[in-house]
This record gives sequence, C-alpha cells and structure tokens, in this order.
Amino acid sequence: MTVDGYHAMELPHYIIVGSNLAHKVVERLRLGSYRKALMITSPTAYKLMGSSIVDEACGKPELDVLMRDADEHILEEGRSSRFDVVLGVGGGRVMDLAKVVAEINKIPLFSIPTVASHDGIASPMTSVRTGGRAYSRKSTMPSEIIADMSVIRLAPWRYTISGCGDLLAKYSAVRDWWLGHKATGEYYGRYAAHLAHLSSRVIMKSSKIIAARHLEGVRTIVEALISAGVSMGIAGSSRPCSGSEHLLAHTMEYLIDKPPLHGERCGVATVFTSYLHGSNWRKVRNSLKILGAPSTLSELGVDVETFVEAVRRAPSMRPDRFTILNQVNLSRERIITILGETGLA
Ligand code: ZN
Repeated sequence: MTVDGYHAMELPHYIIVGSNLAHKVVERLRLGSYRKALMITSPTAYKLMGSSIVDEACGKPELDVLMRDADEHILEEGRSSRFDVVLGVGGGRVMDLAKVVAEINKIPLFSIPTVASHDGIASPMTSVRTGGRAYSRKSTMPSEIIADMSVIRLAPWRYTISGCGDLLAKYSAVRDWWLGHKATGEYYGRYAAHLAHLSSRVIMKSSKIIAARHLEGVRTIVEALISAGVSMGIAGSSRPCSGSEHLLAHTMEYLIDKPPLHGERCGVATVFTSYLHGSNWRKVRNSLKILGAPSTLSELGVDVETFVEAVRRAPSMRPDRFTILNQVNLSRERIITILGETGLA
C-alpha cells in the first residue's frame, strides 16, 4: 500500500456466541427486514440447528433449504434473485458454498457454524480446488456470525481439536507474511498479524482447559477462530492465517487419497515450518500433544516420502505467495534430518 493508496477492510457487523440461538437468528433476520432466505446446510447440521431455525421462523421470513449434496446443484439453485440473504448452517464445505452463493447474488451472508474445525467461520476466504491445487480465494465476509455453543459442543471431538491445529498454524503464517513483505514488498498489516498470532498463542495457553473438554475451552477455540477470521478481513487476504504450513497442508491433501482433517495437517506442518523459521516449534508440538491432536507423521497417517514430496511441491501450490519454503532449499536428507530432530518422524 502506498502513502496515497488505500486499504479496504471488511468486517462482520454482528457476532454472537451463546447457547440455544435459533431464536436469535430469526430475530436478526426480521431486524434486517429480509423476506426470503436461502439456507445452505448438511443433513446433520440441519438436524442439529437448521430445523430449529425453520421452526422458529414459522414462515417469517420464508426459508428455502438446500442440502449440500452436489456443489454444482447448489450453485445452480442458489443463482437466483429470489433470495435476499443466505444462511450457511454447517461446517467448512457448507460455509464455502454459502459464501460463493452470497457472492454470486451479491446478498448478505449469515454464518451459523455447527463445528469449530476451521477458520472460515468469520473470514471472507473460501477454498478453491482446481487443477491439483487447493488454495483460498476472497469471497463474501459474513455479515452476521451466530455461534451456538449448545450445537458446536456436540460435534465430534476430533473436529474441535482440528480447529486448534488451524489456529496454531497462525504462529508460522504471520512469520511467512513478514518474510514475504521483506522479500517482495507486499502489503503487511502489523495489527492483523498480531491478531492472528494472538489466536495461536491463546490455544497454546489454553491447551489443558481445552483437553479437559470444558465448555470454556471450546468457547475459547470458537472465539479464536472468529478472531482469526476477522484478522483476514482486516488484512484483506488470508495472509495472516495461511503461510508455508497451509501450503504443506494443501499439498498433503492433494497427495493423499483419504487425507486427515485440514487442521490436523496444519498442526503437524506448523511444527516443521516453525523449525524452519527458527521459532519455538517445541511449543507447537507440546500443544498438539496436550490437545491429543496428531503430533507426528505416523499419527497423522502420512508417510515420510509423501511428506518429503509435499515439502518439494508446496511452493508451486501457490507461486504468488512467498514463504520460508522459497528461502530454504531443502534436500531430501535435510528434510528427513529435520523430521528426526523435531520428533515428527
Ligand atoms: Zn486453515
């Protein structure tokens, strides 16, 4: 950004974290004078949350429900001027689709997460998978985020812990952003970087409370995910939340038939990239261990050769994004030595 340039920030304007919030969703829809809403959801999320919203709304506003089965089907059905608001009720893939449908129709999006497994809850970023590449693209920032803890706490524990891995990733992502800024002169926002970094630190500090499965721990994850999403809104890109560790996680997804969860891949990759950054990788690994998340390649279900290949290919996953992987040239032997030193293999 130049002195006379500008930097636009997109932020959600209403965030609520609480319990039994179906009535709040309807209240917010009525307050916004929406007449016809499109709910995009999945069968489980509908059972847990979507159906209560439909019951509560009682036709005011009108609610059409689309189950996430085939993405193309949803994009086809969702391309309509009949709706004036989209509700994304579910997990990461539901939210990705809801963002794109809101973007196509240029209408607001309510983000109503039912799992705390990813940082897309409050961010404008959506995952794109194309031509063997998986990366994030800027789409619609949710205008309202309604996080119902009474639903989110019912999600399989593995998903909740996966969210922690996606948050620990920020520990390495902000360092990559700074490196990119130094190397290419790209925009770097100190405040957004600190905010994203904070969301990784809070997980490190709260690992024990989270592992004990207290509601307070799950709530901390949800709030950190929202805060990380907001840091992307401030930055105007996924830069503060996604660096070399995400490139590695995306490449692993591409190389493996049945990949582990996004946050699980991110967590393990962050140990490796934190080592490359010369930062405290032990803290990251210890948090993963305390949380009960995969903290080695074998726990992740990824073999050494696949990981070596992922490190080799990761920079080309997104060539426009400079990270520590562009700065170090790692031989196979060196990668294996690092895996040994960090206890990853
Ligand atoms: Zn992520």
